[in-house]
Amino acid sequence: MIAAVHALTGATLARLCGSRTQAALVGAFSHFIEDMLPHRDLDIPQEAALLAGALSLIAAARGTESREFFGALGAVLPDAENIAGRVLDIPEKQLLLPNHRGYHGPKTRTFNVQIVIATIGLASLFLPESKSPTKGTP
Ligand SMILES: [Zn+2]
Repeated sequence: MIAAVHALTGATLARLCGSRTQAALVGAFSHFIEDMLPHRDLDIPQEAALLAGALSLIAAARGTESREFFGALGAVLPDAENIAGRVLDIPEKQLLLPNHRGYHGPKTRTFNVQIVIATIGLASLFLPESKSPTKGTP
């Protein structure tokens, strides 16, 4: 799965979390689920550019101290292994995480699934913060 899509998913799920730590953990868990979906990956320079754009957008919309930003970082972090494997030319079957070792969704030629997920993620960044009816009331 494209790293930027992982980041946007992590940011979206973070909206449901009560803390940055919880957001990062939920984001990391979402990585494993998303890698099981049919998807197409990109080359590292394209991945890096899209990820930088997604993280910049999340930071601009919600701030780097936000749950959304931590959720995005948690969702992207598992791909550090993927990048190390590709840069160091480590065979896929020698990677540690099962979803990077070949237990992932089928490769596709299109980006359809990822475009839908990314669109939802982008839209969620601009939804207003939900307010709990009990918070702030005496
Ligand atoms: Zn991955």
